[in-house]
Amino acid sequence: MKARAFKYFRTQSLEDALQAFDRAGGEGCYLAGGQSLVPSLSLRLQAPELLIDISRIESLTGISRSGNVLRVGALTRHAEMLTSPEIARHAPLLRRAAPFVAHPAIRNMGTFGGTIALADPSAEFPAMTLAMDAEFEIASLAGTRTTKADGFFRGLFETGLQPGEILTAINIPCFGNADRCVFDELARRRGDYALVGAGVQGNFAQDLVSTIRIAFLSVGSTPLRARHAEAAITGRALSADAISDAQAALGDDLDPEDNEETSATMRMHLARVLLGRLLGRLSQPDCMRQDEVT
Ligand SMILES: Cc1cc2nc3c(=O)[nH]c(=O)nc-3n(C[C@H](O)[C@H](O)[C@H](O)COP(=O)(O)OP(=O)(O)OC[C@H]3O[C@@H](n4cnc5c(N)ncnc54)[C@H](O)[C@@H]3O)c2cc1C
Repeated sequence: MKARAFKYFRTQSLEDALQAFDRAGGEGCYLAGGQSLVPSLSLRLQAPELLIDISRIESLTGISRSGNVLRVGALTRHAEMLTSPEIARHAPLLRRAAPFVAHPAIRNMGTFGGTIALADPSAEFPAMTLAMDAEFEIASLAGTRTTKADGFFRGLFETGLQPGEILTAINIPCFGNADRCVFDELARRRGDYALVGAGVQGNFAQDLVSTIRIAFLSVGSTPLRARHAEAAITGRALSADAISDAQAALGDDLDPEDNEETSATMRMHLARVLLGRLLGRLSQPDCMRQDEVT
């Protein structure tokens, strides 16, 4: 199938993009990396009259650190998650999740902001923003605002972005000396969307969990934090008993549904297996240090 005819507008100005959306009267759509939008247009799942290409807006690019916060521009490509020294050092969870996002050709074009705005529950990075306690910078004609990742993902492909708003950057608390993180997912084939995936980031005092955030993908209509599992392991060492308690508590966090891929029972089982593996791996040295780009 081919996309329905549309008008195309490319600008280097955030203000112009916002105004173009406003003038389109609900018939506009932003285009970033196009890796989800273009297939969706081709399948006529979406048929906007105007595509507003935001991919050349300078203020949406760049990765910079200010104090304890890493600011990652919305146009940062998935591939940069693998090559950026700042990401490796200050947001290693993103680097660890990045190889699981699609394939190199898609990673070369797809953007961090695009995947957050789309909010596919099977996507890796939206869940990781929950695990990292990220905050989103959002621009509209009314000005700018920020909002936490917690509460942003509201339903299937539904977020706290209002019509016309542009996600400009993702702010991430920098990975500290006492922090540990780990990511993994289970998929039928490497590069496929995961049957279940999760990222864990925690802060440790000696070997006790001070705080921990566990975020799952592919287990519901949104990326999800496993708050009961987090509570079950907080204040404890990563012993077999503590891990087993966290796995048991996961039943209060996740409620997957049957679908054509797999049954709800199997998905829940896989989620528990994955959580056990991830919490076990948090004791390994490679989870305790920043990554380096080689
Ligand atoms: C074959 C294939 C396999 C894939 N596999 C995976 C995978 O395993 N894991 C995964 O996570 N993803 C996967 N993807 C999706 C890919 O990661 C997309 O890049 C990503 O979902 C969207 O980013 P984009 O920049 O391409 O956004 P676009 O496709 O340009 O836009 C997506 C949506 O977000 C909106 N949008 C984009 N940027 C902004 C912004 N800054 N502010 C407001 N709205 C915005 C657009 O209007 C549109 O509605 C796959 C895609 C394909 C085609």
